[in-house]
Amino acid sequence: LKSLLNDPSLLCSKAYVAGEWVDAKAGETFDVTNPARGDILTTVPDLEVAEAARAIDKAYAVQKDWAAHTGKERAAIIRKWYDLVVENQTDLGTILTAEMGKPLEEAVGEVLYAASYIEWFGEEAKRIYGETIPGHLRDKRITVQKEPVGVVASITPWNFPAAMIARKVAPALAAGCAFVARPAKETPLSALALALLAERAGVPKGVFSVITSSRASKIGKEFCDNPKVRKLTFTGSTEVGRILMGQCAPQIMKLSLELGGNAPFIVFDDADVDAAVQGALVSKFRNNGQTCVCSNRIYVQEGVYEEFSKKLAEKVSQMVVGDGLIDGVTTGPLIDMNGLEKVEEHIKDATSKGARIIAGGKRHALGSTFFEPTVLADVTSEMMVTNEETFGPLAPLFKFKTEEEAVKAANDTIFGLASYFYSRDLNRVNRVQEALEYGIVGVNTGLVSTEVAPFGGVKQSGLGREGSHHGMEDFLEMKYICTHVD
Ligand code: ADP
Repeated sequence: LKSLLNDPSLLCSKAYVAGEWVDAKAGETFDVTNPARGDILTTVPDLEVAEAARAIDKAYAVQKDWAAHTGKERAAIIRKWYDLVVENQTDLGTILTAEMGKPLEEAVGEVLYAASYIEWFGEEAKRIYGETIPGHLRDKRITVQKEPVGVVASITPWNFPAAMIARKVAPALAAGCAFVARPAKETPLSALALALLAERAGVPKGVFSVITSSRASKIGKEFCDNPKVRKLTFTGSTEVGRILMGQCAPQIMKLSLELGGNAPFIVFDDADVDAAVQGALVSKFRNNGQTCVCSNRIYVQEGVYEEFSKKLAEKVSQMVVGDGLIDGVTTGPLIDMNGLEKVEEHIKDATSKGARIIAGGKRHALGSTFFEPTVLADVTSEMMVTNEETFGPLAPLFKFKTEEEAVKAANDTIFGLASYFYSRDLNRVNRVQEALEYGIVGVNTGLVSTEVAPFGGVKQSGLGREGSHHGMEDFLEMKYICTHVD
């Protein structure tokens, strides 16, 4: 991998703790592997809880000084960081593809997406406005001041190794918080490279640490129990989110959760079918289906069902599966065998209950965790795919008759992250976007992610929002000051 990089030093094999690049204490390390080839990219320290605690101590010690920088000073450093990320986009994309599997073009896209959060929140650092409220008595003055919450800890998944961290650390640093990240053990390299560039940009020592560790639950527990941590921000499954929420209760810790989704994608009879097929392709197969906003259930009205299924199956059959570092590949491997087996299980369950495979359907000839992009027709609500996120390249098509029926089915889930629908009827567009119980609604589009908009879910998909000016609020506390004036 080093030989593919313009700047080989971006491939880090040390953790970044309290402003120092550290080796494993007792020589304990874990391997970072390439899911497309199975080879070991490098090994990184498998840190213990004590190292996480050391990072938190240092973060606590330096946070006040970081917060004392003016917004403009923090913004300048964060801007420099953004510039470095953009300058190194190809290297960062290559590292990302190597550790995670997504095609290089998509990986570079993710790096720029991550950078966009760094840029956006750096700019917001200058705009953390308070408020003056007309007093309730003649001799009282009321002001509201915004202050950073303090030390923030993060736990992130492997599916967006750069973007998931960037959209947490950027607002935290912009707000004046210090930050301790624990990236997924599958993909620590993007996080370490981002931290290296942050250091080069001038982020002070200890303000941003990256704890590489295979001990997810132990490190997670320390993040929740350590009294110096004031906020936990997590992206991952609803199941783990529930555990963390419970663990944060004793300290009444501030908590942001970006959890699972089960996104519906509805195509009405009056939709532009070609546009809907295109939207379904990007929303379902981006990142090989391993995205929490990926459409998981595709509802198609009976009048366009045949046309839509045929066109989607045709496009899906043309996708090119392979090693993401090879030119022209559109679809990489799944992250691991468990991911692959889940896709297989969903297909087996659905076909045993009457679904038809109209594209793909089995492991790819390339072996390992490569899987053929798949479309299933005639899927019904009794099948597993209805209630569980597949997190893989499987598009299940459900046929429906009425708008009411589609909206009811779409909302019939514990999740409420992203939803999508296609229609050209203005009244229907308004009715349906109001009726969908989701934090995000894509109307005639399958791509909704941007740093300028609030990303987040309702119901069991999470708490809080990331991105936009709302994304800053989760890292700020309000202080109300009441002043008596004689
Ligand atoms: P995913 O299926 O996307 O990996 P998970 O919720 O299992 O979702 O994992 C998200 C992140 O949370 C990963 O970095 C994982 O290592 C971490 N994790 C898993 N279990 C725990 C736990 N009990 N406490 C803290 N972190 C955890």
